[in-house]
Amino acid sequence: MVEFSLDLNEDQIQIQKWVHEFAESVIRPVAHEWDEREETPWPVIQEAAKVGLYSFDFLASCFADPTGLQMPVVMEEMTWGDAGIALAIFGSTLAVAGIFTNGTPEQQGEFIPQCFGTPDDVKIAAFGVSEPDAGSDVSSLKSRAVYDEAKDEWVLNGTKTWITNGGIANTHVLVMSVAPELGSRGQASFVVPEGTPGISQGQKFKKMGIRASHTAEVVLEDCRVPSRCLLGGKEKLDERLARVREGKKSSTQAAMATFEASRPLVGAQAVGIARAAYEYSLEYAKERKQFNRAIIENQAIAFKLADMKTQIDAARLLVWRAAWMARNGRRFESGEGSMSKLFAGETAVRVTEEAIQILGGYGYVREYPVERWHRDSKIFTIFEGTSEIQRLVISRAISGLHIN
Ligand SMILES: Cc1cc2nc3c(=O)[nH]c(=O)nc-3n(C[C@H](O)[C@H](O)[C@H](O)COP(=O)(O)OP(=O)(O)OC[C@H]3O[C@@H](n4cnc5c(N)ncnc54)[C@H](O)[C@@H]3O)c2cc1C
Repeated sequence: MVEFSLDLNEDQIQIQKWVHEFAESVIRPVAHEWDEREETPWPVIQEAAKVGLYSFDFLASCFADPTGLQMPVVMEEMTWGDAGIALAIFGSTLAVAGIFTNGTPEQQGEFIPQCFGTPDDVKIAAFGVSEPDAGSDVSSLKSRAVYDEAKDEWVLNGTKTWITNGGIANTHVLVMSVAPELGSRGQASFVVPEGTPGISQGQKFKKMGIRASHTAEVVLEDCRVPSRCLLGGKEKLDERLARVREGKKSSTQAAMATFEASRPLVGAQAVGIARAAYEYSLEYAKERKQFNRAIIENQAIAFKLADMKTQIDAARLLVWRAAWMARNGRRFESGEGSMSKLFAGETAVRVTEEAIQILGGYGYVREYPVERWHRDSKIFTIFEGTSEIQRLVISRAISGLHIN
């Protein structure tokens, strides 16, 4: 186990600088354009692949960092650049996490590289759990995977919704119900590789924020995948289902295992937006003069900035703690992963709103980035578990009771 430290080591600092430079010189200048276009920023993803930022090797080296802090540091810098573009670049990460958490070493070796492609032929991936009638309540998934023994294939049917990169991804990782009567314990994750017939994009959503990130429905109509696409394998699934049917505890819930690991990273992204808004409004408050003095010389404005900075630092501390715990095998006894996502997400909303207030009318128009940051921030209280669901996880963890 590595001791928790607030001092980043030399490698971490170098990577932080490198990612920050990318965010500043490649992402920020085009953030407004892609927000307006509401399209996947392929040239930026390709540039990230070219410099090695969008690659399995880079991701693997970040996740291998024994302190657990490398990935949150990278996420914060990228999202400081722009949340929508950062999600377009790192949207594949959830699918990779799904394969990594639930797949065998052979499946990891086969499918993870397919999520990235190569710098000359970039690929992206999507992770789909949510459905029209199953958002917060992931135990009620209706999408079915049925085993066809004669062909040793699984047949997937149903509709996934709100899926980042949904339908345009080369690889989809989808959580499906295999035994509906068992709820969330009767689910399994499947990889749908590129070119598989029967998978298509449904409606593409027009969103309030993170508009450079593609969000759409994924429709499955008799979509057949070979049995090696069931993550973890059939034998393990059969054993797990048998244990659940006998009333024994099952250790794996496919969707939950993936989300638990990713929550601190979502929190880190929220910290990135909040920091962007704080830095911008701090500079603005020092320069903007009204009544012959800089507006920051009014306590009303200076105190806002003091609160913003305090909340951002507190959010980052929660994120780093959870990331360190997850990497070092510490159990989230009090829902620490959820705490980090909850607090960071709500901080991003509050801080970006205060930033608008500090800029006054200039905060409210699209010529300035602050209104975009506020629109972008709101998703962090919704996806990967709403704030209410994070509070449920925490309150159940601290009370040992099934709070509703
Ligand atoms: C831009 C975007 C990208 C997304 N990307 C993905 C993705 O890549 N993959 C994926 O699988 N999903 C994705 N999602 C889906 C996202 O995770 C869900 O929207 C989220 O889980 C909430 O589900 P819902 O929208 O159905 O809301 P609901 O579950 O219907 O919730 C509505 C409201 O009720 C509250 N609520 C529900 N149950 C309770 C309860 N028990 N106690 C208290 N309050 C409750 C919620 O907190 C919320 O305020 C994405 C969503 C968006 C908007």
